[in-house]
Order: sequence, then structure tokens, then C-alpha cells
Amino acid sequence: MKNVRTTATVLSVVALGLGTLVGTGAAQAAPGAEVETLARPVLKVPFPCQQDWRGSTRANHAGSPNRAMDMNKAGTSGDGDAGLPVKASAAGTVAKASTGGGGLGNTVIINHSGGYSTLYAHLGRISVSRGATVSATTTIGTVGKSGLSSSTPTHLHYEQHDAPNAGHAVSIRFGTSTNALYYGERVYTRTSC
Ligand SMILES: [Zn+2]
Repeated sequence: MKNVRTTATVLSVVALGLGTLVGTGAAQAAPGAEVETLARPVLKVPFPCQQDWRGSTRANHAGSPNRAMDMNKAGTSGDGDAGLPVKASAAGTVAKASTGGGGLGNTVIINHSGGYSTLYAHLGRISVSRGATVSATTTIGTVGKSGLSSSTPTHLHYEQHDAPNAGHAVSIRFGTSTNALYYGERVYTRTSC
């Protein structure tokens, strides 16, 4: 035990020493890193509570960031999930609600707290307007195939960004700890709701 305490004491001294050495640089960097971690909003699976949805990721996600996910309701195939409601992942403000162009079709982008945003594409119907405030239970539209070729089955194309207006795609995380599988297919379910 004596050795352990001694080691801890030495580490503390080293840490204090570093703090002194780095001075104002450390003081500026530490709070920033903390704020970033705390600011990531809880982004839920973009479907009603307790529904199972297959999410698939791939490196060559055509025309989209390779962090994007295509989602289909578990147990359906083809256009079997057409018209099902899509929910906002978290509260926020609608930054875009119109055709996305570039194959995304009807697209909604929501800006969340902490500078994060989420994108929902190929929607069949859009149920919100630009500038509207939404909650995590707001239906923003329906699953569809807008922007897709007629031979491609319906699905929700979904992205998370750590900048507003879908400005920088990041690896998807649902809730506080469900990290998306890259690359592959897995079932995701909205919980704690
Ligand atoms: Zn996609």
C-alpha cells in the first residue's frame, strides 16, 4: 500500500507541475473540451418508442458522408415501411424542410443544442416547416423513396452532424451510449421514452 500511495503522490505532483508549466494554455483548453463533451445532445433513434429498425452503414454511401445510415423497419421488406412516421431525434429547430437535391429527395434538417444537427432524407411526406420548433416526439415526416430511383426500396437516410445545418457528419450515436456499427447492419430501438 505504501508503494501505491507513493505513486499517487508522485503523479499528483507531476500533474500539478504540468499545470504550472502549461499555465494559461491549459486553463483555456480544459474547459473547452469539457463543454464539448457535455454539449452533445441525446439524439434518439428517429422512430416511435420501442420500434425496431434495421440500420445499415457502408463506406461507399453514394453521394453522402460515409457516416450516414439507411434505416428500415425490422420485419419489413421492399416498400413495406412506406408511410411510417419519422420522429425528430431530439428537440430543436427545423433548418430545412424541402427537397434535398442530389438524390436526397424530401429532406428535413433539424438544428439541436450544442451546435449539433440531424438530417432525414427520402421522406415520402414532410410534416414540419422551416423555422418550426420540434420536440423529440414530433413526427417530422414519413418514410418514403423521394429522390431515389423507382427500383430502390423505401428507407430513411439519416445523418448526425456536430455542426448546424448538416455541416459536418459524425459517427452516429443513439441515446447516451449506443454507437452505430461501422460498417454493417444492426437493429436500433428508441428507448427511455
Ligand atoms: Zn442513404
